[in-house]
Amino acid sequence: ETFDGMDLPEELLRGIYSYGFEKPSAIQQRAVKPAMMGRDLIAQAQSGTGKTATFAIGSLAKVDRNLQECQALILAPTRELAQQIQKVVLALGDYMEIKVHACVGGTAVRDDIRTLQAGVHVVVGTPGRVFDMINRRALRLDSIRQFFLDEADEMLSRGFKDQIYDIFKFLPESVQVCLFSATMPLDVLEVTEKFMREPIRILV
Ligand code: AMP
Repeated sequence: ETFDGMDLPEELLRGIYSYGFEKPSAIQQRAVKPAMMGRDLIAQAQSGTGKTATFAIGSLAKVDRNLQECQALILAPTRELAQQIQKVVLALGDYMEIKVHACVGGTAVRDDIRTLQAGVHVVVGTPGRVFDMINRRALRLDSIRQFFLDEADEMLSRGFKDQIYDIFKFLPESVQVCLFSATMPLDVLEVTEKFMREPIRILV
């Protein structure tokens, strides 16, 4: 399997090759297509498998740049990880002219609001700040089609359960959910059962 054979938009393919990737990793070979097709996904994957690029590509492939609204929401357990993911999405989407915002604590709330209101296509954030932006009506969720949870086990063990459940409540009914987790404790299984529809399961 190659990136060429994945039916990706031309500018995204260019971004992937410019970033230095030559061929998809195992998880990318198995997860990118279902993610692009709108399937719910549970991927049990450790760091180092290429999971970040999996959901970066899965979201970039579906973003409509002409729609100035948030279409994909990616949550991660820490500020550093969210910022790292934002950089990967930006880099792979380098030729797509899309706006990707890191919505994390420790930054100025006013700047966050201003950036979100100016219009972004993809938001990568930590649950606390993202939920805050939803409550302030700065982050509108009506156009979100994809919801990615990275390191779901970590997020839940850090006490983000209530916020994640609240965020789910605000998302459109039809949202696609893709969950990545190194382990599958009960808290994570509960999320998959409550909020996901016939998910594809991938173990790498
Ligand atoms: P991750 O599992 O997302 O933390 O990624 C681990 C490392 O693998 C990162 O340094 C990525 O840049 C790299 N990587 C991800 N996908 C590929 C690929 N298809 N080809 C080469 N390197 C990759």
